[in-house]
Amino acid sequence: MRDTTKHQGQRKQLVESLRQKGIKDKRVLEVMGGVPRHLFMDPSLVNFAYVDKAYPIAADQTISQPYTVAYQTELLQLEPTSKVLEIGTGSGYQTAVLLGITPHVYTVERQQLLFKKTQRLIVKLGLRPKKHLFGDGYLGYEEAAPYDRIIVTAAAPSLPKALLNQLDIGGKLIIPLGEEEQFMMRYTKTGVNSFDKEKFGRFRFVPLLQSKN
Ligand code: SAH
Repeated sequence: MRDTTKHQGQRKQLVESLRQKGIKDKRVLEVMGGVPRHLFMDPSLVNFAYVDKAYPIAADQTISQPYTVAYQTELLQLEPTSKVLEIGTGSGYQTAVLLGITPHVYTVERQQLLFKKTQRLIVKLGLRPKKHLFGDGYLGYEEAAPYDRIIVTAAAPSLPKALLNQLDIGGKLIIPLGEEEQFMMRYTKTGVNSFDKEKFGRFRFVPLLQSKN
């Protein structure tokens, strides 16, 4: 499927609506104006690609709402040199947004079906994360630690300790915490065993899976 002028126009409108909803980071808005979300959607829902909502993808998961992607990415305060770990690759849409800002992206997905599907897609689109892994995001990815930034795109009932451990000092972790409903949290590591905690808006994410399914 191609990226047409119609898609580009719809994306411009989407970016404008994100701006109106309070997203300010110019780099985030610019990148989201360039990532063809329709290519990450389930084919039956492609006409809704530029509606600011989450939609179902394979394996009972969802492609995040563009506003949520923008919100989390803004909170990350990414630099073009940042090394980022993403937990919950899903459709790969958030991954593509991260890659628009920094080439140092590592991403982990728990569902094998989605992992394989997204693997084919990212190759096809020429996206090159440093690693796209099939694994358990609760454990992070120790091999490439420490990270400057970690983003979790599924709801965790509590903070996975491994993720904080894999953060560099000065690094930031963005994670939606809670069961039914979540608060977006940002942890900034201030020392080997210390961190600052900030609480942001309310969201609804699919759960971070605890064990193999
Ligand atoms: N950023 C993705 C969001 C997908 S929804 C997108 O916009 O498409 C959350 C994703 O987290 C799902 O794909 C789900 O399978 C994955 N996930 C759930 N538990 C996980 C875990 N323990 N480790 C890694 N990924 C997990």
